Amino acid sequence: MANEFDILVIGGGPGGYVAAIRAAQLGFKVACCESNPYADPKGEPRLGGTCLNVGCIPSKALLHTSHLYEEAAHAFAGQGIEINAPKIDVPKMLARKNGIVDQLTGGIKGLFKKNKVTFLPGHGAFAGQSANGWQLKVGKEEVEAKHVIVATGSRPRHLPGLPVDNKIVCDNVGALDIDAVPKNLVVIGAGVIGLEMGSVWRRLGAEVTLLEALPDFLSVADADIAREALKIFTKQGLTIHTGIKVGEVKPGKKNVTVTYTDKDGKAAKLEADRLIVSVGRIPNTEGLNAGAVGLKLNERGQIEVDAHCKTSLSGVWAIGDVVRGPMLAHKAMEEGVQVAELIAGQAGHTNLDAVPGVIYTTPEIAWVGKTEQQLKAEGVAYKAGKVPFLANGRALGIGAPEGFVKMLADAKTDRILGIHIIGAGASDLISEATVALEFAGASEDLARICHAHPTLSEVLHEAALACDKRALHF
Ligand code: FAD
Ligand code: NAD
Repeated sequence: MANEFDILVIGGGPGGYVAAIRAAQLGFKVACCESNPYADPKGEPRLGGTCLNVGCIPSKALLHTSHLYEEAAHAFAGQGIEINAPKIDVPKMLARKNGIVDQLTGGIKGLFKKNKVTFLPGHGAFAGQSANGWQLKVGKEEVEAKHVIVATGSRPRHLPGLPVDNKIVCDNVGALDIDAVPKNLVVIGAGVIGLEMGSVWRRLGAEVTLLEALPDFLSVADADIAREALKIFTKQGLTIHTGIKVGEVKPGKKNVTVTYTDKDGKAAKLEADRLIVSVGRIPNTEGLNAGAVGLKLNERGQIEVDAHCKTSLSGVWAIGDVVRGPMLAHKAMEEGVQVAELIAGQAGHTNLDAVPGVIYTTPEIAWVGKTEQQLKAEGVAYKAGKVPFLANGRALGIGAPEGFVKMLADAKTDRILGIHIIGAGASDLISEATVALEFAGASEDLARICHAHPTLSEVLHEAALACDKRALHF
């Protein structure tokens, strides 16, 4: 049979395409199928999944442009640079973002060719078992594979009774393609997407209001960081209401009204020309024929897997957003490598306790390991070293003195348990923190490493020293 493979990967997002490439490197005959509606110039579905098409990459492109705009509008003058008031050309900004998406998604097809991964455009579904493994359908084609890696990802959760047209009422797809700066933008859900996309449009001039159901702001983060973030974002001009309950939402042709009750139970109403709904994501399992072959899902609708990403079925693995754990591209990629290596008999592994999280706002927020509230709840005795960016020469030099680094270490063993950063460059600084955590480092280890001067990384160094009450510059 022509369509016979060692491994079929279903889904070409960061989990799936990385699994396919790594498996091919290990000598397997691999195919990867992809069915998304984002077509390339040949009319084939683009690879790269949510991340490259409508997630990480396009959102970061818009965050960069809007950051430059805000710097030009508000920060240049303070450094003696005089310019006329900047203007934003939204179509050009979107075209640049789309160009990056084209380049990267096309690049994955190139990587497939280089690594001899067969790309099968089309929707993949289980058809049954075969003597050697699994029978599947990709579009109308029949495929057989010894192993199947399900990497079907996730899609935005919508609110019941509120259709998303991605013009007036947007999820992440429409939020990345708003074609003019809205006067008023309401965002339901002050999570990661809400804060990133809310920041983009606020920087460009929109009045942005975020409506968050939970009583606490950014409850995934360390509470200290969340408090600081709320203070900074509010000062920047984002209006954030927590503890709200969304009532009726009435979209019109040009605007939308949102009624809600605030945290004191008082009725309130907002009118906006755009609404973004960013209230989490749901795993993609429908259309896989999972039930017919007995693939087990958990109570959250995710494919059930063990620590090795093995499902309830022999030879079937699942990775990324469609399984438990944080919905992050780098976590999906790690699991892709892990599974390919496990199939090859190697010791593939993903440490879910050392997956960093980043929010690409200004300032950036990043963390790895446990929060202070988690350690308290677990009754772990810990010490903390907290140092502000204000005490760092480089932070002052680049005009980014806001925020701090907080390091949490075991009170007895000194082992680092968590590192939390709000400040410039947090997305890069968190890598050093992750190395420390992954290798069971102690705060003393980081304190004894020579950090280049003047760099933002010195704040991490100082936080390590502060764990032992011997910070030198604070
Ligand atoms: P996906 O990327 O969702 O890919 C799954 C693919 O499978 C899709 O292309 C889908 O079309 C395809 N598929 C589904 N079912 C089938 C089927 N039956 N047959 C064939 N193909 C199928 N994460 C970060 O780490 N950093 C960020 O900065 C970041 N920013 C984000 C910004 C936004 C706006 C969004 C929405 C997400 C962001 N994420 C970010 C999350 C990140 O995009 C996801 O965690 C990541 O894409 C998950 O990878 P995946 O391979 O599991 O799934
Ligand atoms: P999220 O889980 O980050 O935030 C959703 C927010 O919506 C939560 O705070 C939740 O309490 C709130 N919410 C839920 N229902 C609500 C309701 N009815 N009314 C008001 N608020 C409500 O989810 P998201 O922002 O949609 O992003 C989805 C996922 O995509 C994230 O969890 C993350 O894994 C990934 N992502 C990552 C990045 C990054 O790494 N920088 C960026 C964007 C997205």
